[in-house]
Amino acid sequence: MKDSMCYENIITQTIVGDFVHLHNVHVDVLRLDLLHPVISGNKWFKLAHYLGEAIEKKATAIATFGGAYSNHIAAAAYACKMYGIPSIGIIRGEEPRQLSHTLETAKHNGMQLHFVSRTEYKNKDELQKHFNFPGALYWIPEGGYGQHGVKGANKIMQFADDGSSYTHIACAAGTATTLAGIIGAVHHQQKVIGFSAMKNNDTLETELRTLLHDEDLKKDFSVCHDFHFGGYAKHPSPLIHFMNDTWQRYSLPLDFVYTAKAFYGLLQYIHQQKIPAGGKVLFIHSGGMQGNLSLPDGSLLY
Ligand SMILES: *Cc1c(COP(=O)(O)O)cnc(C)c1O
Repeated sequence: MKDSMCYENIITQTIVGDFVHLHNVHVDVLRLDLLHPVISGNKWFKLAHYLGEAIEKKATAIATFGGAYSNHIAAAAYACKMYGIPSIGIIRGEEPRQLSHTLETAKHNGMQLHFVSRTEYKNKDELQKHFNFPGALYWIPEGGYGQHGVKGANKIMQFADDGSSYTHIACAAGTATTLAGIIGAVHHQQKVIGFSAMKNNDTLETELRTLLHDEDLKKDFSVCHDFHFGGYAKHPSPLIHFMNDTWQRYSLPLDFVYTAKAFYGLLQYIHQQKIPAGGKVLFIHSGGMQGNLSLPDGSLLY
């Protein structure tokens, strides 16, 4: 499947700062956010195989699920437009008077939005079964969760300059599909840490394990639930302050839903010496930058 992603834009950025010397660690960031302005980062990797199958099966349209800040919805809408496939988004919650920037973009890219109550949204099988559509509809699970998503995310490590040289790989987790792909691509001596963007998402480890092959279950991975900053998409001022500070110190732009919380978590791990001296860390910048446009004007310095 041909695509128009700018793979050559992906860089490995070394973080230069006092804490690096203080704790004797090396921190690199794999900038997947530079892949594409809308389908940025992990979302393209997770979508690619679903889209491939939809095209192969000659689907009339693609349908998927997401909330008001869903980068998956924004990416799916854009990718479908790119391939000329009509798209449908089943959106959690009643239709608001003012659409979030994310949903506005999805709509602008031709996605038909269907709002369903939070209760209805919980039962996706029912929604899928009763969705009235003339023609062959191809359903992509919420957030690209599933084996096709993992298969795509498996390729992420190939973009790091010397992927096998890292002792630790850290990334943000929503559905943990990206995490599963990364775990599948690393060797047994490497540690993978996922930072959950949600509060009390206690089924996350189970969902992650479901995605992993037997061989990968033996690898060294963990999920941290401590840095959600109040919950999914919550953005208290200390988080915004941290994002501006990270931009000023390291020229690293982060998104408020996922990567800012994960990077904050990683720095805490370094300060707490959970990453031992001599450690070489790769932080996966999974993208999501379009989400920042939902913040009030002037919140960020970038
Ligand atoms: C969706 C998203 C994630 C979470 O990815 P999962 O594969 O669902 O765990 C992480 N970071 C960003 C920027 C995202 O948009």
